[in-house]
Amino acid sequence: MSASTHAAAMGAPAELDRCPIMGTYGPPSVMFVRGEGSWLFDRDDRQYLDLLSGLAVTSLGHAHPEVAEAICEQSQRLLHVSNLFGTEHNAPVAMTLDRLLGGGGQVFFANSGAEANECAIKLARRFGGGPAGRFAVVSAYGSFHGRTLATLHATGQPAKHEAFQPLPEGFHHVEFGDLDALRSAITPSVAAVLLEAVQGEGGVVPATDEYLRDVRELCTERGVLMIVDEVQTGLGRCGSWFAHQHAGVQPDVVTMAKALGNGVPIGACWARADVASAFRPGDHATTFGGQPLATAAARKVLEIMEREGVPARATAAGARFTDALGALDHVVGVRGRGLLLAVELDVPAPDVAALLLESGVVVNAVTPTALRLAPSLLITDDEIDEGVRAIDAALAQVAATSGGAS
Ligand SMILES: *Cc1c(COP(=O)(O)O)cnc(C)c1O
Repeated sequence: MSASTHAAAMGAPAELDRCPIMGTYGPPSVMFVRGEGSWLFDRDDRQYLDLLSGLAVTSLGHAHPEVAEAICEQSQRLLHVSNLFGTEHNAPVAMTLDRLLGGGGQVFFANSGAEANECAIKLARRFGGGPAGRFAVVSAYGSFHGRTLATLHATGQPAKHEAFQPLPEGFHHVEFGDLDALRSAITPSVAAVLLEAVQGEGGVVPATDEYLRDVRELCTERGVLMIVDEVQTGLGRCGSWFAHQHAGVQPDVVTMAKALGNGVPIGACWARADVASAFRPGDHATTFGGQPLATAAARKVLEIMEREGVPARATAAGARFTDALGALDHVVGVRGRGLLLAVELDVPAPDVAALLLESGVVVNAVTPTALRLAPSLLITDDEIDEGVRAIDAALAQVAATSGGAS
């Protein structure tokens, strides 16, 4: 792609020879200008079936009319006051999240997933007693927890660390699913274990229920906090309100973000009340976190999610997708939970994803051999079937051109 095409796809005048946006994402291929439910539209009004939802963000689909109305109304009432003052949606949103998480906790509002995790890490250090006490965090290889310096180091992908040394101290990694490795890694300096219930960026790799139960037991036994990062998996996506609930465990801290505002930036860190109370006024803060626009969106999102029973819908739609995709040529397997799925292929996934985009379907190659699907939780059966037909056609075409096994 030429520099000027890149610039144009980012909204710069086509005649610019250098895009004024930093190149952290690589060149975009399409500019989307609007959306409706499971559909996106580009500048030429071409329509695309969105099977990715941002990255598991727009769980109620694009431009949901009730969410749009809540945002619109709030924007005409009050956008922002300092967190030194109260605003009307904070407590209702926190109460709903607390109820969905089993109760007995408190919430801190942030603006993103990384910030929700930063809050969890700071809380673990505060609860652990500061530098004289417990401060370290053990997380898993293959995990993803964010791009700030601390969450980058918690992210168990060493290749992402190299360019950004020195990273903050106090982060250790173990193999995901290996309880003995975790047991050995919990030294006296460890304050918390931080895990995803399904590793999202790592390739849609679910933890087993047994592993999560064993981790819970181990954390309790050693007196360290169990933090579950539900930034991608939370809020119905995996067929339960939070993915760890499949295992019947109660973490001490849970972080979330992506789906909470259906596209409006908001994150949250929930913690058991006695853990949360380690934070004193002045210990943690954010200018924008929990501001009325974001919490108005989140309040409406949660109301719709409960009314629509999105966890059950994700389970049913996920089963329909899994059965249909599993029967296709060139599909080696389908893994994941609910509507967070990876389709393992015997042909190169990036080629399939690129061809699908050309044919009007948005997915993502989460590994070199797997496509990730994270569609709207309100996707219809017809849309699922249409998506499967498009994936089938793209697989056949890539296999024919790349000589993949058939
Ligand atoms: C996306 C993601 C994050 C980071 O969220 P941002 O909003 O991009 O900061 C953290 N953890 C998990 C599991 C994620 O999927």
